[in-house]
Amino acid sequence: MTTDTAQSASTRSWSAVVNGRGHRTAMNIFMAIVIAHWAEHIAQAIQIWALGWPRPRALGLLGMAFPWLVSSEWLHYGFALVMLGGLWLLRAGFHGRATRWWVIALGIQVWHHLEHFLLLVQAQTHHYLFGASVPTSIIQQFLPRVELHLFYNALVTVPMAVAVVLHLRPNAGERAVARCTCAVGRRVQPVGA
Ligand SMILES: [Zn+2]
Repeated sequence: MTTDTAQSASTRSWSAVVNGRGHRTAMNIFMAIVIAHWAEHIAQAIQIWALGWPRPRALGLLGMAFPWLVSSEWLHYGFALVMLGGLWLLRAGFHGRATRWWVIALGIQVWHHLEHFLLLVQAQTHHYLFGASVPTSIIQQFLPRVELHLFYNALVTVPMAVAVVLHLRPNAGERAVARCTCAVGRRVQPVGA
């Protein structure tokens, strides 16, 4: 149908922009969101391990101002969803070695997002996994929640950071196929490539 064709063409052109000339800006916005999410987790870690607050009171930064954002599970579900969407959307802008690392981060985020989706459903329905009295992650059977989600975020951030470094410093082959302006010294032609 023409409407479908027009819609998929507009999706393609939007993807072409965020993975082409808009990749750098889109990456900067995405990284700012990733850092904001980390700030929540680091604040919570400081509240627990430096300030000695009881865990139920350690709600991070936004969570202190808007506790319902944490108790409803919407805050961290929102971050998980935006990160999943960003990793999916911006992957086409990567090339060569960077693609492999970005896709590893995407794969781990698929699982991390599923854990947050289950937490969100539990918070909304008040039916909790494993007979718990609060929303509970699957791998919380092996690690406490705060530590588990710090681990999940590190597990996603490390391959993402490797991908970004490789993307900013591409080899000659990767530089030749890149459509974005992310690479450091992009205008300098490779010597003897
Ligand atoms: Zn780029």
